[in-house]
Amino acid sequence: MSSDLTPKLNGWIDQERSEMIAFLKRFLQAKSPNPPGDTRDAAAVVTEFLDARNLPYRMVSPNPVMPNIIGSFDGASQGKHLVLNGHIDVFPVYEEDQRWTTGPWEADIRDGKIYGRGACDMKPGTTASIFTYAMLHRIRDEFGGKLTLTCVSDEETFGPWGARYLMDNEPEVLGDCLLNGEPSSPLTIRFGEKGPLWLAVTIQTEGAHGAYVHATDSATKIAARLGLALESVCDMEVPLPDNLARAIEASRDAVDKAMGKGAHEAVPRVTLNIGSINGGLKVNIIPGQCRMEIDFRIPVGADREMILKRVNEVLSDFPEATMEEIGHSPPAYSDPYGEMVTVLQDTVEELRGFKPTPIISLGGTDARLWRYRDIPAYVYGPFPYGMGSYDEHVDLEDFIHIVRTHVLASYRYLSQNTQP
Ligand SMILES: [Zn+2]
Repeated sequence: MSSDLTPKLNGWIDQERSEMIAFLKRFLQAKSPNPPGDTRDAAAVVTEFLDARNLPYRMVSPNPVMPNIIGSFDGASQGKHLVLNGHIDVFPVYEEDQRWTTGPWEADIRDGKIYGRGACDMKPGTTASIFTYAMLHRIRDEFGGKLTLTCVSDEETFGPWGARYLMDNEPEVLGDCLLNGEPSSPLTIRFGEKGPLWLAVTIQTEGAHGAYVHATDSATKIAARLGLALESVCDMEVPLPDNLARAIEASRDAVDKAMGKGAHEAVPRVTLNIGSINGGLKVNIIPGQCRMEIDFRIPVGADREMILKRVNEVLSDFPEATMEEIGHSPPAYSDPYGEMVTVLQDTVEELRGFKPTPIISLGGTDARLWRYRDIPAYVYGPFPYGMGSYDEHVDLEDFIHIVRTHVLASYRYLSQNTQP
């Protein structure tokens, strides 16, 4: 094969800088809020780019308004199969939210940043995947293995029409390793994530006139006591394998820098959020019904059964309550010292002079789907500025850095696994 093409790739990235920013701007202007999840406009921005560069791809659209784009090409010889993944849907916007400085779909550029819904989660990361695919296609005779691009819909609601569908129906997307550009901060590489377990608890009592407290228990008062009692589930000790305990301990400062002060405490623990409590009709009626929706986040090392066992122990003191499960994704992780981690660390150290720290993320991404199948999956993306809120944005220097890191790390990974 050939010599190191890193300088050539760096030159292309410098030359195409304004084109990358223009692409991201068009991509952000193509509204794709989920719900409702119609991503046809955003997909068209991607396919116009792929068409203009004669890059191979096909559409997989089990839901016609939520298309997925898959492209693959082979290198010049045998090697490993690297898969790039990003989603093209974004969080919804509260249209009445007056706090946005400029409209959420304008993709306004000011002070070296681009603003809009999806400007960190995750159109910059998906753009990194797309440009990586395009640039490595131009040098495909210079390395072995295979590169696959997946741009998917239906991520923001953990829906069934995007990556989940591809995993079950398109084996081409599996590969030997996954790289994804969800927001992580340039300081960290996400090698794992916690898993949500969502429960709904309904409390039923007789109910009565508000003055007749002798006649019935109050469903809302029971809900309040139950909510406090459920906190004890979070005290559970979670056993960890050695290499994971070591990686989590070493990541404390980096986790706080990437996700906010105190975030490291939530990484190895079960956490509880009571997302909603609905009960009662009127101030002078004792409520006979109350429904709570509960969001547990399961750390790696624990699982659904461990949580449910403890929840049921708590519920045994509340005979008025019945529980149902309304959502679950298990926690998952890849080797915190895996090959792609080293590749990303070496690449970023050469570019920026520091090694990003491998961490476990609190929230969820599609990367978990690859981890469920024992395919190492890693996330390296921009800071989560304004994610899910107003004035979401990415610093343009960080955006270019993420594109550059994905291009160079993908090239390095494929090159070092190339067989003669
Ligand atoms: Zn995302």
